[in-house]
Amino acid sequence: MNVIVHFDEIFLKGNNQGTFTKKLADNIRRLFKGVTARRVEGGFVLEGLKENEWDRLANIPGIAKYAAAKECKRDLDSIKKILSGWPIDPTAKTFRISASRADKSYKLTSEEINRELGRFIGETRGLKVNLHDFDLNLHVDIGRTKAIIYEKMSEGAGGLPVGTAGRVLCLLSGGIDSPVAAYKMMLRGAEVELIHFQNQTQVTEEVSEKIIDLAKVLARYQPRIKLTIVPFGDWQKQIIMKIPADYRMLASRRLMFKISAKTAVGDGCQALVVGDSLGQVASQTLENMSVVYEAVTMLKFAPLIGANKSEIVKLARRIGTLDISSRPYEDCCSLFVAKHPKTKAKIGEVLKLEKTLDLSALDNVRGISYYISI
Ligand code: ATP
Ligand code: MG
Repeated sequence: MNVIVHFDEIFLKGNNQGTFTKKLADNIRRLFKGVTARRVEGGFVLEGLKENEWDRLANIPGIAKYAAAKECKRDLDSIKKILSGWPIDPTAKTFRISASRADKSYKLTSEEINRELGRFIGETRGLKVNLHDFDLNLHVDIGRTKAIIYEKMSEGAGGLPVGTAGRVLCLLSGGIDSPVAAYKMMLRGAEVELIHFQNQTQVTEEVSEKIIDLAKVLARYQPRIKLTIVPFGDWQKQIIMKIPADYRMLASRRLMFKISAKTAVGDGCQALVVGDSLGQVASQTLENMSVVYEAVTMLKFAPLIGANKSEIVKLARRIGTLDISSRPYEDCCSLFVAKHPKTKAKIGEVLKLEKTLDLSALDNVRGISYYISI
């Protein structure tokens, strides 16, 4: 069987239609090797998608709904032939046909198609029509050249295809929140690049495995992801030496923002993205976020700011990052968890402390970049 994919019609209005559909088709072809995406009314027909990959469609940004489908010529005899071989769940007793015509010049109305095909299924497959309480709903879409037949559609993630809304740089920690924040931005059409600050003076390949694994999962939803890993150890040492314990976390997050903003500018990213959720931890009070976000003028987004932990965990499980995020990892921030962290930091105080740091090396911070695709 092929698969029919629908996207939200609202995005199909106006001049963006071509860009939107072209990008979605392109993303699907790159994310599912060997699959072709052909434009039909309201969506695409995918050919060559293996059945065990269908579920992956549920999380691809820009896909609103999808279902297994068959195509044939538009005449009723051809449609009936498909319906005679349609695999019907043996427990199903009642059914309805839901015909729709994209081409209104078709010789029968939707109502007439429903009635004719309904009679046919009733006679040949032993099911009873029930328009309201049905076990099986067979959709028959009459397009301009072909008919497409499918059952109930599965819900996709919706949103916009990745790559239709510009580029952002997401600060990826080893935690649960930031990969979900990255995915949320993908759902709005942003192409996401990742940056991770590692608790090392030099990046070594093996210690970054968890982060690379997270990026690989995110690469199921965006065809290619750039991940930059920055050694943060020397900065941490400096912070430990010069900044009092209760301000270290804030100072370190400000430095991450400063380095990230430079990387973002270099890579053509227009905003920074973080996994902050209001009040979740001490560093995420309004006062502390104000102090941290003040570090750079670049636009910043925290797509999870209003989300509960349980919602975030649910989405992390759904996209497949939860188990990886739950692996033990010495995040560089965990070193800075003070017994009594400041919850209401004052910007003046932070700026004064920051002046004691030697930031001259900020201009030539070098990370290692990887390009990750599925
Ligand atoms: P997460 O679950 O994403 O780690 P968190 O609730 O643990 O978030 P913090 O540790 O305060 O919160 O970090 C807040 C945000 O700062 C993270 O979501 C991430 O965007 C960024 N961040 C923190 N540590 C790092 C790091 N080592 N490298 C890159 N980004 C980081
Ligand atoms: Mg964290």
